Amino acid sequence: MKEKCAVFGVYGRDIDAARLTYFGLYALQHRGQESSGIAASDGKRINLHKAMGLVAQVYNEHDFDKLHGFLAIGHNRYATFGGSTDDHIQPAADREMKVVLAHNGNLPSIEKLRKFLVSKDISVKNLNDSELMLTVISYFLSQGQTLEKAVTYAFPLFTGAFSLLVMTKDKIAAVRDQYGIRPFSIGTLNHTGYVFSSETCALDTVNARYLRDVLPGELVIADKHGLHSYQLAKPTPKLDIFEFVYFTRPDSILLGKRVAEVRKNLGRNLAREAKVKADVVIPVPDSAVPAALGYAEVSKIPFDFGLVKNRYIGRTFIMPDQRLRDRGVQMKLNPIGESIKGKRVVVIDDSIVRGTTAKKLVKLLRDAGAKEVHLMSSCPPTRFPDFYGINTPTQAELIAATMPIQKIKEFIGADSLHYLSYKGLIDATGLPEDTFCTSCFTGIYPIDIGENEKHINRNIEGFFLPQH
Ligand code: AMP
Repeated sequence: MKEKCAVFGVYGRDIDAARLTYFGLYALQHRGQESSGIAASDGKRINLHKAMGLVAQVYNEHDFDKLHGFLAIGHNRYATFGGSTDDHIQPAADREMKVVLAHNGNLPSIEKLRKFLVSKDISVKNLNDSELMLTVISYFLSQGQTLEKAVTYAFPLFTGAFSLLVMTKDKIAAVRDQYGIRPFSIGTLNHTGYVFSSETCALDTVNARYLRDVLPGELVIADKHGLHSYQLAKPTPKLDIFEFVYFTRPDSILLGKRVAEVRKNLGRNLAREAKVKADVVIPVPDSAVPAALGYAEVSKIPFDFGLVKNRYIGRTFIMPDQRLRDRGVQMKLNPIGESIKGKRVVVIDDSIVRGTTAKKLVKLLRDAGAKEVHLMSSCPPTRFPDFYGINTPTQAELIAATMPIQKIKEFIGADSLHYLSYKGLIDATGLPEDTFCTSCFTGIYPIDIGENEKHINRNIEGFFLPQH
């Protein structure tokens, strides 16, 4: 199961930590819509509430009665493959409710964790990557270790991407893999406490001031004495560049850069690279709006909202089945005829993954009377699957891994098809290339992907590694 998720945690004084966590999870809903959970402690006992559904559906007033306390951690999960199941909803908890854990990311190899637990005669049956991590930490706690020691000892057994919150009855540990693949930020609440969040947008929601990121390879403990930092591994920053392209909310800040501005740069660079004669530039809402604004600005072609998105159809609605997915696009997007009819249209999406959206979109725009449809992607062709916690299909399902660009153009039926170049993508961030994990585009995986490597094909027509 692959997950792309959100974590949020609060350690405070005289604070209703669970309620703040609820607001934080609300702000991070885009990172996971399948299930949600909050664990809270009053310093004596941890209580937990979790269920399938959106944040708005999972909690009611009554649930907060049992979630009282000054520290809490929460999680939103998005996992499509393997179907919907409530077996693995997070935060994960040990049987005695001594420790809980919320994980954003994915471990492509769990061998070390399994071996360790088996050597201690602890059952690993039905445990996913997050639960294996929890079980190892729980083991060290049961040996009388402190939370900081337990996490420090467990850390070398984690192979993969993790922005992790671990809570005991009176402490929170925030820990991030040494590559910092998934984002993780820390905020302060006017000196009454600290907040940990997958993204900075949720800090704004709870009125916390951004302090700094949890560093790659760092463990940060929040307890009654404040924050304590331990560097567990040498930081080798490799933030997943797809966070800039698609996942992160545009009002969040990653590596000091406002995501909306980077996305505008993607569009600006696209306009410099892909010049077409057109009458209107329209975004695929909402994710491609900044890129389309950037494209319009540089190309001087007018911007218009030619497509309206039904906001009430979440991603969970679109099931992992091609027939349902086809219908999903149609129900989600509706064209505004007047903006499109008789016009040469540039339509910009943030990315093309399977090509389902693109194909449907071109038909939708032609049916609405577009004279020409020029489809553009604000990132390069996605030719490789992700193993670090975002939900991508297998390589065989990635359209750019199976067809050359010209064939894709024919398949989706556009008059022209343009992808932003790899160089244009890196340039838009204003940061050096080696700051990023670019595996979706390059097939270069900074963390061992174990057995998965066997199934990766790098011999793709038209694909060559970008020159350094
Ligand atoms: P597809 O129809 O499979 O080509 O998907 C492309 C659309 O999915 C784009 O409009 C993106 O906004 C969106 N998208 C890209 N990556 C992901 C992902 N990992 N999970 C969900 N949606 C995505």
